[in-house]
Amino acid sequence: MKTMSLTLTYISALAAGLLLLTSCATVSDEPATDSALPSPTAEDMAASEEEVSSEPGFAEVLDCPKSPIPENQLSLVNFSDYPDDEIINCFNFAVNKIAEMQTDVMMIIYPVGPILLPPGEVKDNDTIYKGPGFEPVITADQRDSMASSLESYLELACGKDAAAYHARQVSRFAELGGGQQVAASAGGSDKCAKKRWMVLSIDPDRAGPSKDLVVTFFHEVFHTVQASPGPTCNYSGAPDDDQFWIHEAGASFFGLEIAAELADLDSALVWADHMSFVSDLLGNQVISSEFEDPGIAEKGAIALRLLADRGQLVTSEVMDGSLYQKCGGQPEAFSPQNIQVAKDYWFDYSEVSEGVFRFSETALTQ
Ligand SMILES: [Zn+2]
Repeated sequence: MKTMSLTLTYISALAAGLLLLTSCATVSDEPATDSALPSPTAEDMAASEEEVSSEPGFAEVLDCPKSPIPENQLSLVNFSDYPDDEIINCFNFAVNKIAEMQTDVMMIIYPVGPILLPPGEVKDNDTIYKGPGFEPVITADQRDSMASSLESYLELACGKDAAAYHARQVSRFAELGGGQQVAASAGGSDKCAKKRWMVLSIDPDRAGPSKDLVVTFFHEVFHTVQASPGPTCNYSGAPDDDQFWIHEAGASFFGLEIAAELADLDSALVWADHMSFVSDLLGNQVISSEFEDPGIAEKGAIALRLLADRGQLVTSEVMDGSLYQKCGGQPEAFSPQNIQVAKDYWFDYSEVSEGVFRFSETALTQ
């Protein structure tokens, strides 16, 4: 079987109307297994907004300041109602944070209809992608256009066969109504591995104001910048089993920080919101404290926050992408001792005053 390296991210749904946070897997040859995190329902959120009138205004739409056009321009295939210029603005805004963009990116965005009930994996899925099933809405012409765009984007660098294969996979998954959030590359030669693509489905919940859309968008953009974890990107020797969460954690860390910046919020507020959400899921035993899915990216981001608060991680090198491109920076950050602390204490935090979450003294000093 041809060598393939995919970084898959997808959402799934546990129940009607529950959308999930990013959850990704890096795989070779096979698609990732599914995983899912529920996020608050619209009703829950409406209720909490009524209760807390001082709820800060989180970023819920892709509305970014105009940024200089990066050298590696985005190729955009957008069939959603989201305006192209807003997507492009936000892509440019994100990659202008990156010290040295080393990849090309094609972004494929397509709409899906309402989630199919009961929620579950896409039916008759014969693709390498996984995700929940929604009512398919894109037309045959749009699918053909999507496929031919990806095929011509990849053909020169990756070869005819690989290009045709990946074009077919993406368009077929869209045809099935697959809910998607993924960043991928075909791997292989350096030239081919440099060609990344990112796929995002916009369902009716995401089309409206949606914190999830904003954080997920930037999470996936960050994946298009990152080297794949593995031999060439082991974070100065982090054990194999730890590389994946570090990879995912970086993408969510980036997504949360950008979401704060876009809304002009102190990032502490966004972190508090995130930590509160994850803490509730832990409390309800929807997720475990292990670095595994569901929620590996969300948990890992909090672990990076802990290492940063302990003075062991320089977050500017997360945010400018360098830690995730060179993968050999900050040799101490992911030392065995620090990884152990991250695993043992990432969830050891609590609300110290209304809306303010802090790690325990033990977590910070152990
Ligand atoms: Zn991810």
